[in-house]
Amino acid sequence: MSRRNLVSWLLLGIVFCISGLISQDNLDKDKTFFQKKREQMVSSQIQSRGLRDQRLLQAFLSVPRHLFVPEQYRREAYEDYPLPIGEGQTISQPYIVALMTAAAEVQPGDKVLEIGTGSGYQAAILNQLTDQVFSVEIRETLAGRAAGVLRSLNYDGVRVRCADGYFGWPEEAPFDAILVTCAANHIPPPLFQQLKEGGRLVIPVGSTVFFQTLTLVRKVGGRPVVKQLLDVRFVPMIGEIEKEKR
Ligand code: SAH
Repeated sequence: MSRRNLVSWLLLGIVFCISGLISQDNLDKDKTFFQKKREQMVSSQIQSRGLRDQRLLQAFLSVPRHLFVPEQYRREAYEDYPLPIGEGQTISQPYIVALMTAAAEVQPGDKVLEIGTGSGYQAAILNQLTDQVFSVEIRETLAGRAAGVLRSLNYDGVRVRCADGYFGWPEEAPFDAILVTCAANHIPPPLFQQLKEGGRLVIPVGSTVFFQTLTLVRKVGGRPVVKQLLDVRFVPMIGEIEKEKR
């Protein structure tokens, strides 16, 4: 190799090393940026509004919400509002995800069903609390994308299925908790049936075009005990529910 060639190779090597260091530095900066955002989100949106369970707060501190939203919304991922996730759907505001999770009272080892996987964020939060999460999404592209993100982040306790969640997941029933993250005008009977005795079902019930009431239904002696939690606005459940008039 001529001296000139050697010098060129050396220079190229140096440029590579420097760009590698810069991109590592950017990654580290990103990590600190999002970690700080996450800490602020937990203290100002979740803890300050009365949700103080340590396991719950820890789950929200550890799940990288920005990796569940489309790239152009990453910097806004920890703000106090919902964000678009494609296909006209949205990821709920962090506080609503936290409130639903708290109401479901998920304990380690619990079997949990989610209807409306969307981005996969709620499923990841649930997987921080238990290793058995089953999530159903009716839109194929969203189901595929969410399953991919969850896999890449090692949320191995989540199983995603593309189907109409109105019918639950009968093969895996009964569940300790069921969370429905799309609006329903009535409680789908299969979901209540698939709840264990003492189990909790959290679901936005009401008009699917306007507002709903986030509702907690507990199965006590085989019967529903209902508590209304908060007025909310979710995207509508589609599929079978549109045919059933109740
Ligand atoms: N939990 C999600 C947000 C869900 S948005 C998250 O953490 O990102 C509501 C989702 O419910 C949408 O993705 C929508 O496609 C889905 N959905 C609507 N009707 C459904 C049905 N019948 N069964 C399953 N999923 C449904």
